[in-house]
Amino acid sequence: MRVAVLAVQGAFIEHIKMIEQLGVECIELRQKADLEQSFDGLILPGGESTVQGKLLRELEMFEPLQKRIKQGLPVLATCAGLILLAENLSNDERSHFQTLPVTVKRNAYGRQLGSFYTIEDIDGIKHFPMEFIRAPYIEEVKTGVEILARVKDNIVAVRYQNQLAMSFHPELTEDTRLHETFLQLIKSSLEKS
Ligand code: GLN
Repeated sequence: MRVAVLAVQGAFIEHIKMIEQLGVECIELRQKADLEQSFDGLILPGGESTVQGKLLRELEMFEPLQKRIKQGLPVLATCAGLILLAENLSNDERSHFQTLPVTVKRNAYGRQLGSFYTIEDIDGIKHFPMEFIRAPYIEEVKTGVEILARVKDNIVAVRYQNQLAMSFHPELTEDTRLHETFLQLIKSSLEKS
C-alpha cells in the first residue's frame, strides 16, 4: 500500500509523518511526473485552497487527480483539502474537484473564532482532538453523504464513498485514529478491486 500526499503547499509534512509512523509508505505529489508512480490513496492537506487549486491547474495535476477521485481513489482531505473536494462553496465563486456533494463555507468561524481547539466524538471514534485553523465548515450535504461529526451545531467531518473530509487538522495532533480509518478505507478498497 502506498499513499500520495499533495505537496504543493500547506501542512503536508505532518500527514507524511503520521502515515509513515503507521508503517505505510508515502510519496509526495509536487509535479505532474509524480503522478506516474503508483499509489492507492491520496491526502489533500490543509493550507490555502485558492493557492492549491491554482497550482494544481498550473502544474497540470488537476484533471488527472480529479479523474482518479471520481473513479474511487480513497481520499483523506483536511481543511483546505475539504474545500478542494466540495461541490459548492457558498462564499467563493471558485470551486475545484467538486467530487464531494456538499456545500462548504470558507473561513466560516470568522476572524475572532477562526482558530480554536476542542475535543469531540466522531462517528465511531470517541474524544477526538480537533484543531481548527481559519477553518471551513459544511453547510449542506446531499444524499449519500454520511455526517461523522458536528461542532457547535456545524458539520465538520463527512464521508462520501471513498472520500473522508474534515474541516480540522488531525495531522497536527498526536491522535492517529483518523489516519488509521483512512488506511482501513484504502485496504478495503484494494480488497474490492
Ligand atoms: N482558510 C483556508 C482556505 O480557505 C483553509 C485553512 C486551513 O487549511 N487551515 O483555504
